[in-house]
Formats: sequence, structure tokens, C-alpha cells
Amino acid sequence: MTNGNKIDLEGEYGDVKSLLRQVYPDGDLKRLDRAWEFTKLAHTGQKRLTGEPYALHELATARILAGWKMDLVSITSGLLHDAIEDGGAKREDIVAEFGEEVALLVDGVTKISNLKLRESRNEFFVENLRKMFLAMAKDLRVVFIKLADRLHNMQTLYALPQQKQLRIAKETLEIFAPLADRLGMSEVAGDMKDLAFPYIYPAEFKEVQKESKLHYKEVTKLIKKMKRSLLAKLADEGMRANIQAREKHLYSLWRKLERPEIKWDFEKIHDIVAMRILVDTVSECYTALGVVHRFYKPVPHLGISDFIAQPKPNGYRSIHTKVFGPGGKIVEVQIRTWAMHDQAEYGLSAHWAYDEAKKKKVSDEFMEKVGAVAPKDKLSWVRQLVDWQKEIKDSEEYMEAVKFDALNNRIFVFSPKGDVYELPKSATPVDYAFAVHTDLGKYIKSAKVNGKIVPLKHNLNSGDIVEIVKSKNPHPPSPSWLDFVVTLEAKKEINSYLRTTEEKV
Ligand code: MN
Repeated sequence: MTNGNKIDLEGEYGDVKSLLRQVYPDGDLKRLDRAWEFTKLAHTGQKRLTGEPYALHELATARILAGWKMDLVSITSGLLHDAIEDGGAKREDIVAEFGEEVALLVDGVTKISNLKLRESRNEFFVENLRKMFLAMAKDLRVVFIKLADRLHNMQTLYALPQQKQLRIAKETLEIFAPLADRLGMSEVAGDMKDLAFPYIYPAEFKEVQKESKLHYKEVTKLIKKMKRSLLAKLADEGMRANIQAREKHLYSLWRKLERPEIKWDFEKIHDIVAMRILVDTVSECYTALGVVHRFYKPVPHLGISDFIAQPKPNGYRSIHTKVFGPGGKIVEVQIRTWAMHDQAEYGLSAHWAYDEAKKKKVSDEFMEKVGAVAPKDKLSWVRQLVDWQKEIKDSEEYMEAVKFDALNNRIFVFSPKGDVYELPKSATPVDYAFAVHTDLGKYIKSAKVNGKIVPLKHNLNSGDIVEIVKSKNPHPPSPSWLDFVVTLEAKKEINSYLRTTEEKV
């Protein structure tokens, strides 16, 4: 398939279109056709290191977005995401051909792609890096396009030089996979980690792969056996259920094996392959649980977790139960509705599809019955985006809401070493200095932003690299700084100095 000359580009594009016709039966694909012609032209003669034509990467990104049930604007933008940066296209042309909305998404992807995600030392900075990413993306769809782009880049990472492989794989493991997780896309996050795994920990990867092979096989066989009899029993209850075997991602299996209480004892891992039962409604989930327990006894103490009644912080919902399968082997069974399944696999992106369903006047009652709506409590700040979406009627209002009001008043800047600091909007180098360390505030001589000297009252922007040029000796803060600093820390420090000097006088 990677024979550069023989790729049937049009055939590949046809595949993506037929996938889209399933997701959007009434969608107008003419604009997509034009985007396809546009991107091929923009990348004329360009090849990826895999030897494949560049346009195929644009198409692969669009295909992934289609699989996540994103809206057509995102998919069109995915098809064009490198047309400016790596292709020969101009922004004006994209605006003229496809409108401002598509151009904004393509711009957004370019902007966050140019962020230098340097290696950071601790979890605090890495978390800020992820937040910065979201803040700079402005529109959530930009993040999804970037994730799709990264997923395909990981799938083709083998073609890159080793140094680059390692950097990109690390970045994926530290930034992109957790970001996907935050957005509720656990399947995508798991795939990303598995793709990064062999590049970062090659020996460990081989070992886990080798040691786990038989275990995967054994449990899969067991689940197949259980599946046949369970399907019949569920049908007796009048349920049309679908039963799948879900294999645990290799990287997450490795993390689990390494835990002190597991110590590579496979007998202590009950979900290496789990049985997944998919049904239509929430009440069917509980009926299915009853059926399972009638034929396979739940394991005492390990028992049931009801994440439908009590969803996980990232919104995950399902019922998990551990039962004694044939031969006494413990098997994990996960029960959920199709709507919950889509959300667990595709996270927030699945909500675009459900939003479409709502436009078709599907009742709230129905949405609740099939589990498309999560309870409101215990939502993280990312999940709140979903919540806003549910409350919004027309799409324009909706687009405003996904633009991250929550993060609009924050900026994220880098230290020269690559650490990330979160500051309020209009923060200055003085605010930055006091945020890094109170002591640094006493050595401010001047400040550089992105290598250039700036006034101390300069307003910082997200992505700036800020450097404080230090004086030889500590000196008191200037009262005039109070006119422009915005952080409490800076104000407090300057004021407390002024007070002590007043007292002395
Ligand atoms: Mn790309």
C-alpha cells in the first residue's frame, strides 16, 4: 500500500466519501470535493517520508475526523490542514474558496502546530502545556483536527529519522494522549500511547507483547464461548444486544503490570480482554446485568462498579462487573448503551453527531433513555463544554460557546527553559517574574520576550518565551509597577515592600 506511484488517490477519497454518506446522509459534499481538488493542487509533487503523496496525509486526517463523526466543516478543514503551512496555498484562497470558518480552523491548527512543546520536567507544567494548547486553539474543533493529524503522523512515524521519532513519540505520550483522554476520547488516547510505546520503551514493549500474547488469546476464546450462550439469553429477554471482546491497550497493560501490587502477575489482571455488551437503552443495561449475574456469578469483593449511576470524572459511563466465567476464570463484563459507547470511544467529538440528532427534533426523553445525556454533576472543566452545548439552540450561539470562555482570560507563557506558566490576560514581565519566584522579582533589570528587549509593562501573549534579565544585586521593586501589574502575587509583594519602607521613614 505504500508503493508511492501506485496509490489510487481517487479510490481512497471515494472511501472517505462513502463513510461520510453513512454519517451525513443529507450532507452536501460538493465543498468537500472542491477541498480535495484544492489540497491535491496545493501539494503537487510533494511526498511524505513514507513515499506517499502528501495529499494522502490530508485525506487520512479527514478520514479519522469522519470516523469520529465530526461536522463537515471540520472534515473539510482537516482535508486542508497543511495546505498553507506545507503546501503552496494562501490563506486568502482558502477564505475565498471555503469561507472564513474553514480558514479559521486551518489557521488554528497551524498556530498550535508551531508551538514548541519542549520537554517539561513535572506534571504541573505538562498540565499547563495542555491547557495552553486548548486556550490557543480557541475553537475545540481545532484540537480534534490536531489530534487526528497527530494520530496519522504516529501511524507513519516509522518513516522518520530516529531522533525525530523519539521526540514526536514523547510529545504524543505526554501531551496529546492525555489531552485526548481529557476530552473523553479514551480509545484515541489508548491508540496514541500504543503507537508511541515501542519508540520510547522498545525493550519493555517487546517484553509485554511477548508475555501477554497467550493471555490475550486465552481470554478471547473464553469470551467467545460466553458470548454465544449470553446472546441467546438476552434475546429471551427481548433484547437485541451486541457483544464484543475488548482488548486492553498494550501500554496501559504494561503500566498495570508494573504496579507494586501486581508485579507482573497476570492472574491479578482481569480485564486483559473484557466482554462488552452493547444495548439500546439505559434500562436494558440493568436488565443485561441481571442476565449476566444469573448465569455467571459475580466475584465477591471485586464485584460491580456502576459508572452509569456514578460516572467517572471524565464522563465515562458503563456498568463493570467481574464474574466467574467458564472454568472459574474471572472475566470482566462491561455493559453500556451505544450512545455511551460512542462517547467513551470518541469523547466530545461524538457530541457533534448527537447535536445533529437533536436538530432533527429527537426528544430529550429519548436522549436520556439511550444514555446520550450525562448527569450534570461532577463535570470537569472540559466536560462543561459538553454541557454548554446541550443548552444551546442554534449553531451560531453554539460556536461562540465552544470558544473556551473558561480559558479566555488566561495566557500561557514559557520560561527560557521551557516551563509553562499560567497568567491572567494582560500580565506583564513583572507579573511573570513574581510568578516564577518572589526572589526573581527583586532582581528585575529588564525583560526579553522572544529574544527581544521589551518595556516592563509590555503585555504578554500566549506562547511567548519570557526572560528576566537579572541585576547583579537585589533591589526594591518600583512603586510605578503597581500601575501595570495584574497578578495578586506581584501587587502583594510590591505593596509589602512599600509598607516596610514607609514604616522605616
Ligand atoms: Mn499534518
